[in-house]
Amino acid sequence: MPKTDGARVLADLKRLTEFGRYKTGVHRPTYSQEDVASRQWLAEKFAEAGLEPVIDGIGNVFGRNPHAERRLLVGSHSETQPHGGWLDGALGVIYALELARAFREDNALAGLGIEPVAWADEEGHFGNMLGSRSFIGALPDSEIVKAKNRGGVPLRAALEQAGYAGRPREELDPSRYVGYLEAHIEQGDWLDSRGLKIGVVEAIIGNWNYWVTVTGEQNHAGTTQMPRRKDAGAAMMKLAARIYARFEEIAGPRTVWTIGRMLIDPNAPSIVPGRAEMQVQFRDTDTGILARFEEALMQLVAEADRAGPCRIEIAPISKSAPALMDPLFQELIEQAAERHAPGAHLRMPSGAGHDAQILSRRMRSGMMFVPSLKGVSHHWSEDTNEEDIVLGAQVFADTAAAILQAG
Ligand SMILES: [Zn+2]
Repeated sequence: MPKTDGARVLADLKRLTEFGRYKTGVHRPTYSQEDVASRQWLAEKFAEAGLEPVIDGIGNVFGRNPHAERRLLVGSHSETQPHGGWLDGALGVIYALELARAFREDNALAGLGIEPVAWADEEGHFGNMLGSRSFIGALPDSEIVKAKNRGGVPLRAALEQAGYAGRPREELDPSRYVGYLEAHIEQGDWLDSRGLKIGVVEAIIGNWNYWVTVTGEQNHAGTTQMPRRKDAGAAMMKLAARIYARFEEIAGPRTVWTIGRMLIDPNAPSIVPGRAEMQVQFRDTDTGILARFEEALMQLVAEADRAGPCRIEIAPISKSAPALMDPLFQELIEQAAERHAPGAHLRMPSGAGHDAQILSRRMRSGMMFVPSLKGVSHHWSEDTNEEDIVLGAQVFADTAAAILQAG
């Protein structure tokens, strides 16, 4: 089995944190100066590990292993959320680097190759999982032409500035790999709250989103009699309460749902709102449950529209399919976890989206979690105990070896 060096993993993670450090976290948006510098640093680390580094036309950093007979693609993303944590994405990238080194240092693993990758823009500064989608051929040029970040900077200008424009975008050759493996911090507290060390991801949730628009009649809040009002705000709030109540009745054990965005127009204390909008989202790994939620939502909206006095409409925004992780990969992660942390592992869904859900469309994919302290993520205070980081690296390496050795 490959032997990982925990001190080396921690040192590299801390070095990567220096690119855009913010308090104990990191501010490293995609294609920012710090992000470009960190990708260059990663390419150099891949070269030191005996690999041929390639930074492609969307900013993905690959470490090519030309000599291996069987290869596993291993990685995660390297940019961060605004003022985000030091491990989100970075952990999986540094684990991949460490695996490449550990395999190279072990003669018993000759012929088995790890190819590390740092994907670009999983965090969606310019789009949604740009790097991994580009790699599987699911990022059309037309989308690149249109994409902008929150500050209005066009993606093409950012790629130009980064020095990536004009380079080819690497595309997956499925015959090159046995599969794809990703490690990530859990970002929730299923593991931490139970004192567990390793999460074996069974599936990455599907995430369905809708806009609900309510049209009423804007009027004076003092003079308009109650029976005559068409109050869009009131109609939206009543509908939202019905949605919460109904979803609770039909939820699966791990379904989550959120109304995270509401707008009232004109949003003034003395005006009966003439218009209101809200976004409704639900997530589950079971398509049947997602479909049940959609049906219930459509029904509630139709009922509320019929009841009046406001007009209520609904339109889907996006629906991502749940992504199932490969059963054999799950089994091998579990076996490696049992060897190093007996009884301290859990099969679980991923409530967050990850590059592995994109890769799983084209090849066998697996995903492993380490605990997030108190389940905090997408915040600079996000953290994981060092001993859990070190343990996770070894479990991850054992898993990679078992996958490469399996038929
Ligand atoms: Zn992430």
